[in-house]
Amino acid sequence: MTTSSTAEGGTTQLGGDRVVVWSPEYLDYRWGPTHPMNPTRLDLTMALSKSIGLLEGVETVHPSPADDVDLLRIHTPAYLDAVKRAGAVAPGTAAVADAPHGLGTEDNPIFPRMHEASATLAGGTLAAAREIASGRTLRAVSIGGGMHHAMADWAAGFCVYNDAAIAISWLLDNGYDRIAYVDVDAHHGDGVQHAFLGDPRVLTISLHQHPATLWPNTGWSSEVGSGEAEGTSINMPVLPGTVDSLWLRAFHAVVPGALAAFRPQILISQCGADSHREDPLADLALTVDGQRASYLAMRDLADRHCEGRWLAVGGGGYGLVRVVPRAWTHLIAAALDREIDPTTAVPEDWRERVGALAPGVDLPTVMGEDSDVSYLPWDGPGGTPETGVASLDRALTRIDSAIIATRRSAFPLLGLDPEDPRD
Ligand SMILES: [Zn+2]
Repeated sequence: MTTSSTAEGGTTQLGGDRVVVWSPEYLDYRWGPTHPMNPTRLDLTMALSKSIGLLEGVETVHPSPADDVDLLRIHTPAYLDAVKRAGAVAPGTAAVADAPHGLGTEDNPIFPRMHEASATLAGGTLAAAREIASGRTLRAVSIGGGMHHAMADWAAGFCVYNDAAIAISWLLDNGYDRIAYVDVDAHHGDGVQHAFLGDPRVLTISLHQHPATLWPNTGWSSEVGSGEAEGTSINMPVLPGTVDSLWLRAFHAVVPGALAAFRPQILISQCGADSHREDPLADLALTVDGQRASYLAMRDLADRHCEGRWLAVGGGGYGLVRVVPRAWTHLIAAALDREIDPTTAVPEDWRERVGALAPGVDLPTVMGEDSDVSYLPWDGPGGTPETGVASLDRALTRIDSAIIATRRSAFPLLGLDPEDPRD
């Protein structure tokens, strides 16, 4: 496998070392007109990425739906059968009225061709994994993936098939035995954690809003994995209202040390954008700039620990117009080494198109939100700085309590010193 990203002539070779996985069929994953997860967010992201020039010369891989053999890596035959049958009948019919397997609920209503659309999202993440495993690319991004709540036998939290778990399982059968999964969605990455809770070959790390305050109410720092896999589930809950600088302090206090100890061969990132301060379903307070900083940090960690191998997927994110398109355009840009400065203007043609679709929405004019994403690195217990601003001091104390709880739960199991900021 080559780690070179330089083509003849010294220009960055795009499309060879970096792949964008996309299918217009991702837009068929459509729960209904009033459901918060509207695939318009994906459409507007790709439109913005194209409009801003990000995709010029970039290879786009068009995935096939995941087949049953791959879906069955994670899901039960009974569940697959139920999804297929549900998507073949009219919404709301008696056949699904008792919501077996989580299908037909308010969160996960039946929609036409549910199986086909869900299998296509899973196929996209699987295609990204195959591109990397084959050595054709070092990085691949599929914004349609990230359905991290789906469980073996039931749908949950707008997720039908757990694409990341399926891709991880496939990688485990295709030459990888140390895989790291980092989930920065506002919600706990419960489905992926659960799939590999007892598997020491997979490290899952989830940063999310505190489980006492948000569904699915799991992801406590005490959840560390089971049996021989103790220490390979890490949970970093943060309180509602956590802003960029504090979120980044927590991220950098936990993720780099854990990855350095685990020594993964590949990093998979779930990049749900519902951590944003405007998200209607969660209460964190990140900006697009903070989200961008997290994507760049994860890419850099893949460079440092995984010889560059990085698979990034989307996830939650319900700021359909003002948030997700900018956040995930920055994600694609990070994967392509074509970072976009947050002060870059949002192209006028995109604004015109979106203005017609979403009249009355205050459309963004630039790619960022003028947030300072610098952060004070965590400096060990007792190292909480005093800023002189009482509210910030209190917030720092709270985030540091959470950081030390997570480190004390998981770090000794990885052979790390939870008290030592160098670990
Ligand atoms: Zn979420």
